[in-house]
Amino acid sequence: MSLPTFQLDGKIALVTGGSKGIGYGMAAALGHYGAKLAIASRGEQDRERAVQRLSEQGIEAKGYAVDVTSRQSVRELVDQVVADYGTIDILVNNAGMNIRKPLVEVEEEDWDKVVSTNLKGIFLVGQAVAQQMIKQKGGRIINISSIFGSVGASFQTSYAASKGGINQLTRVWADELAPHGITVNAIAPAYIRTPMTAAWMDDEERYQWIVEQTMLKRVGELHDLAGPVVFLASDASAYVTGQILHVDGGWTAR
Ligand code: NDP
Repeated sequence: MSLPTFQLDGKIALVTGGSKGIGYGMAAALGHYGAKLAIASRGEQDRERAVQRLSEQGIEAKGYAVDVTSRQSVRELVDQVVADYGTIDILVNNAGMNIRKPLVEVEEEDWDKVVSTNLKGIFLVGQAVAQQMIKQKGGRIINISSIFGSVGASFQTSYAASKGGINQLTRVWADELAPHGITVNAIAPAYIRTPMTAAWMDDEERYQWIVEQTMLKRVGELHDLAGPVVFLASDASAYVTGQILHVDGGWTAR
């Protein structure tokens, strides 16, 4: 039996929302295992800072402007990454946002913004990259979901709907893209310390609520996602597709 490798040398990874938070942490993990990176986001300053930080760690990375809610912008992104690097072997479909509100206060604009970024954005990027991966006859798509794609919690109307949709896209794409040598999986984290959750982490009452829900009795950190994303991007997960990998300290197992 030959043992599979976790190494990603020579692989090209596109990470949407790679300028900060979970996207940045995952990009750095893939880079440390040898992948070359395309970091995509809207804000130039954060993106250039991320590319600089990665370069300082000896990781090859380029920054790309994209708004994942725009089909035109996504097409330009994928074309440019392929022009620069030749292929896209790994997609971390991560860009996302949240607007937490009680159901009765959710505005139509709130719903549109969250669903357009988290669900339509994942669809547009996944579709454009899948077209490229089909030409290449292989690839890895890793969608970033959330525990709220599987379990309920108050004030997550738009977000949970979008993440539940991502879980289903993951299963559908896994079936459809398997004949092309492409695996499709999702990582569904619980609360991870990032700019998106900073306010929650700083609120003692909310912080304690998170800890209580979590079997491992702590919040997640960026390094907790490094192993899962490298696994799903590498040969080590060759026989894994259509799965939702909860990285949640046990939150959803109860
Ligand atoms: P952050 O707010 O820290 O980072 C979000 C990233 O997405 C930024 O790089 C941002 O850059 C980018 N982004 C947002 N909107 C767009 C857009 N329209 N087009 C392109 N890029 C965009 O969030 P997190 O790192 O916390 O979250 C990342 C993902 O992980 C999201 O999908 C989130 O739902 C998911 N997640 C997060 C959890 C957590 O506890 N933090 C838990 C479970 C899931 P810019 O604004 O410059 O475009």
